[in-house]
Amino acid sequence: MDHSKYNDNNDNNNNEQPNTFASIPERDYVNTVGHASVGSDVDLAWLRQLYLPKVSPEKTILEDGTVQYHMQRSYPAIRQLSPAKRERILVTGGAGFVGSHLVDRLMWMGHEVIVLDNFFTGSKRNVQHWIGHPHFELVSHDVVDPFMIEVSQIYHLACPASPPHYQYNPTKTVKTSVMGTINMLGLAKRTKARFLLTSTSEIYGDPEEHPQKETYWGHVNPIGPRACYDEGKRIAETLTYSYMRQNDVDVRVARIFNTLGPRMSPADGRVVSNFIMQAIKGEPLTLYGDGDQTRSFQYVHDLVDGLILLMNKNFMEPVNLGNTEEYTIKDFAYMIRDQVLTSPVPTPVNEVEIKILPAAMDDPKKRKPDISRAKKYLGWEPRFAVKQGLQETVDWFKLQVAEGAI
Ligand code: NAD
Ligand code: UDP
Repeated sequence: MDHSKYNDNNDNNNNEQPNTFASIPERDYVNTVGHASVGSDVDLAWLRQLYLPKVSPEKTILEDGTVQYHMQRSYPAIRQLSPAKRERILVTGGAGFVGSHLVDRLMWMGHEVIVLDNFFTGSKRNVQHWIGHPHFELVSHDVVDPFMIEVSQIYHLACPASPPHYQYNPTKTVKTSVMGTINMLGLAKRTKARFLLTSTSEIYGDPEEHPQKETYWGHVNPIGPRACYDEGKRIAETLTYSYMRQNDVDVRVARIFNTLGPRMSPADGRVVSNFIMQAIKGEPLTLYGDGDQTRSFQYVHDLVDGLILLMNKNFMEPVNLGNTEEYTIKDFAYMIRDQVLTSPVPTPVNEVEIKILPAAMDDPKKRKPDISRAKKYLGWEPRFAVKQGLQETVDWFKLQVAEGAI
């Protein structure tokens, strides 16, 4: 391993200056993602180097097609943090879409990160740039089974999140939410770690209040096809506050609204990945129902910032994290079609149709967060417009397809 290439911590040095070694670009505050107050501020360019395809310096593809891996590798430069300020952080589901971006940011901030994942919907590829780094550990483990480790913070994300994924094995989805959350709360209780649950806007079900505030109790069908996820997350919240009351566990609950960004799985069946992949291939976009149902999409870097702020603020009630820009799915289809056709990454097609399919059962008709609580208690609101996040996501998907990576 080439130790000159990554910014290892110098434990005798309490200096927390960002590392100027390696390839961190000059600060461009327009592109700075995150809040300086919790040290999560970072250039978008730094984050991009972790997920945009590049000629990998770690491997060579030989003429006969075999791949040669090089043992020496470099890591993205990270901040130095004094040992006193460095947290040991567990991220369950850290190899998934949101989890891997959270891992990138926590690593950037200089913390030690342990990822626990069973790779059901996540992938080692999402965190491969950290494998072998002395601050990073990847553990293959199912959260349904107990796990022992000493940590100071737990971000509990492990759970399939897209309807086709969580409906594939609904019983397992419930087990993951119930037993997985009990196991992680038990760990938090034993180690006195702070615990953050990634709950969801789905706990509001098909809402009768619009936009949704955290005080709204929801409107969920307990026996429908979405119940394994919605009710699973509702009981996960119940468990979280039971451990808080009964065992003094220090808890945080984020209610996440629809999120998009690079590293979404192309086959997760969610509207963003479906429409982008269909448009790239020149297939008709599959609109379920009349398309008048609404969703509000946030860019993943905004979400990660909100999660880190929430973890580090003294606020224990649930907090909505989402973008308040609301679109009908029909308008969203046109927006994605236009962005795919006009993106600077070339497209082999110049026309994309929209095909109407039957509506999905129990599909919520409206969804939009009220984020006044996040603004007031976290000082958080999205920095990216939906179109910016979507453009970046479209370009990422197109580059992956061009590289043959997906
Ligand atoms: P994802 O499917 O990409 O990531 C989930 C990760 O959890 C994957 O890496 C998967 O392999 C892992 N996992 C699943 N079951 C597991 C188990 N039993 N044991 C260990 N690991 C397991 O989904 P995501 O979009 O990154 O969502 C992450 C979290 O955020 C989830 O808890 C989800 O409910 C929540 N959330 C996401 C969104 C969104 O729009 N992406 C919206 C609301 C809530
Ligand atoms: N949707 C659609 N076509 C698709 C996939 C989804 O019209 O190919 C619709 C879906 O019916 C829902 C919205 O898009 O109204 C968002 O769906 P997604 O599965 O992304 O998220 P969720 O329903 O969990 O918010």
